Amino acid sequence: MSERARAEIHPAALRHNLTVVRRLAPGRRVYAAVKADAYGHGVARLADALRDADGLAVASFAELQALRAAGLTQPVVLLSDVLDGDLSALAADPDAEPLLFSTVQFDRLAAIAAEHPRRVWIKLDTGMHRLGFVPDQAASLHERVRATPGLTLAGWMTHLGCADDPDDPMTTRQVARFDAALASLPGSRSIANSAGICAWPRTHADLVRPGIMLYGGSPLLDRSAADLGLKPVMTLSAPLISRTEIPAGEPVGYGATWRAPETMPVGVVAIGYGDGYPRHAPSGTPVSLAGAPTPLVGRVSMDMITVDLRRAPDARVGDRVELWGADVPADAVARAAGTIAYELFCRLSPRVQFRVC
Ligand code: PLP
Repeated sequence: MSERARAEIHPAALRHNLTVVRRLAPGRRVYAAVKADAYGHGVARLADALRDADGLAVASFAELQALRAAGLTQPVVLLSDVLDGDLSALAADPDAEPLLFSTVQFDRLAAIAAEHPRRVWIKLDTGMHRLGFVPDQAASLHERVRATPGLTLAGWMTHLGCADDPDDPMTTRQVARFDAALASLPGSRSIANSAGICAWPRTHADLVRPGIMLYGGSPLLDRSAADLGLKPVMTLSAPLISRTEIPAGEPVGYGATWRAPETMPVGVVAIGYGDGYPRHAPSGTPVSLAGAPTPLVGRVSMDMITVDLRRAPDARVGDRVELWGADVPADAVARAAGTIAYELFCRLSPRVQFRVC
């Protein structure tokens, strides 16, 4: 019997997507966002392709360790907190670059810097109001880095809150605040996530930090991944395990939320929310059978989904159904389920078998 849910990972697609980044933001350094185990794809599975990036970005010390274990040696920015217990271990990795975003955290790193010299990024909060210092503090922060033995400034960073919407004025405001705060200060600048790279050239600055676009998801509300020339890095599939003729008017699945509009074949596919397929994907969410798009019908259960087989009359038990990948963009599934592709990728459960292709 073939595997149940299977995620095929295509490093060549990530390499391609990285060339799209370099074409859109020529001459900029590229730090690939590989937090959450490369957005659920597996950093070790993509290690060879990720060597083409100038640096990497993770959320935690554990993620830094995982990518070093995978043989990646580039500089790595730690986008979130470094816990007290991890500070001394960090000393063994001179190319780990913490991001300073609060006084508490600055104090902790400054206290060990003389013993463990370190490049640090400073994060300014230009309007997203999640992490970062107020821009007015930039000059005093710069002075404090200069005055702290062992600390060197890697650069200045901010993060965009609304760049996925090309009409939202917040991005322009964020860039203006960042530029104004740093007008007379030295150091590299980094603003752009994937949406900034694709839609806002003024955010490219010195270094860009693509995440979702590297994995083949669209970062923009109004453009598909294919429009942007991106290729999906993950193909999720599962086998058809049963087909049934449902009489007209009869319901399918929990809650009887969907009824057959006519007597018709319905297929059962061995994937459900227990594998990470989104439970809120409604009837109509696309799946693909042998390249033919067909809709999901009825509710997603823990181990199974049910699909309309009218457009795939020859489908047989054992055939593999694509849940997302080249035929079904993950963005389309995410939109139907009221979420984003980032979450779909990150939430696959340990039931899913991964394979590098
Ligand atoms: N930079 C920071 C600080 C982030 O938190 C993220 C992801 O959320 C990224 C870059 C990459 O963002 P995206 O995946 O939208 O390109």
